[in-house]
Amino acid sequence: MDGSITTQTTVNLVLLGPPGAGKGTQARKLQDRFGLVQLSTGDLLRAAVAAGTEAGKAAKAVMERGDLVSDDIVIAILRDRLADPDCAGGVIFDGFPRTTVQAEALDALMAETGRAITAAISLEVDDAAMVTRISGRFTCAGCGEGYHDSFKTPVVDGTCDSCGGTAFKRRADDNAETVGQRLRAYHAQTAPLIDFYAATGVLTTIDAMQDIDRVETDLTAIVAKALA
Ligand code: ADP
Ligand code: ADP
Ligand code: ZN
Repeated sequence: MDGSITTQTTVNLVLLGPPGAGKGTQARKLQDRFGLVQLSTGDLLRAAVAAGTEAGKAAKAVMERGDLVSDDIVIAILRDRLADPDCAGGVIFDGFPRTTVQAEALDALMAETGRAITAAISLEVDDAAMVTRISGRFTCAGCGEGYHDSFKTPVVDGTCDSCGGTAFKRRADDNAETVGQRLRAYHAQTAPLIDFYAATGVLTTIDAMQDIDRVETDLTAIVAKALA
């Protein structure tokens, strides 16, 4: 056994949902609970922008206006990360795929290494809730733990629950103007993936208007079942 066939022992999940649905929040929890790797193309792209790579230079303005970065760039970044050994034990795709081209590329990439998407879970929220969630979002600068001004504040004001850090940051694209364009991009380009995954029989939907803990409970049950 060369270790490349992993579909029997682990899961590879796609979290679908609009900006602010709670993908990142829940992916971190699944990562901790099940030892899966969270793979966020938004995080990978922000790292590329910060590092000033060619891909990052091309992506910066696109992200600032709330449009989708080109499939070529995103797929290339994803392909590199997916080849890392830690990904063999199971991955949570957070914010990828976002177009049909990306979904087809992901299937092909997974198949190359004997892997497949085990479950695609759609987090369903109202458009109005997304705007509220995004405009109140902030993260710990040290460990990346996510917070919200109203829905998830640190237990001790100004101190990260996870790492004790005291520096927090907000994303440049989490503003009212950009959110509208991000929602339009979601409905036009990403929402069709719900049908894409329904057609392959791996789709489950979750009511993501519930509070964070209830969404976590629903999601944990789905993943535990997939692992059983
Ligand atoms: P996404 O990764 O889908 O864009 P996040 O996980 O970053 O979304 O969540 C967006 C914001 O909403 C964060 O500030 C997070 O703390 C908050 N949030 C996440 N899930 C919920 C929920 N179920 N109810 C209320 N707020 C939530
Ligand atoms: P959110 O879940 O709040 O929309 P992300 O961090 O997933 O935020 O994405 C931030 C931005 O990065 C997106 O608005 C888009 O410009 C870009 N991006 C992230 N993932 C992709 C992707 N799979 N395809 C194209 N663009 C992407
Ligand atoms: Zn922290």
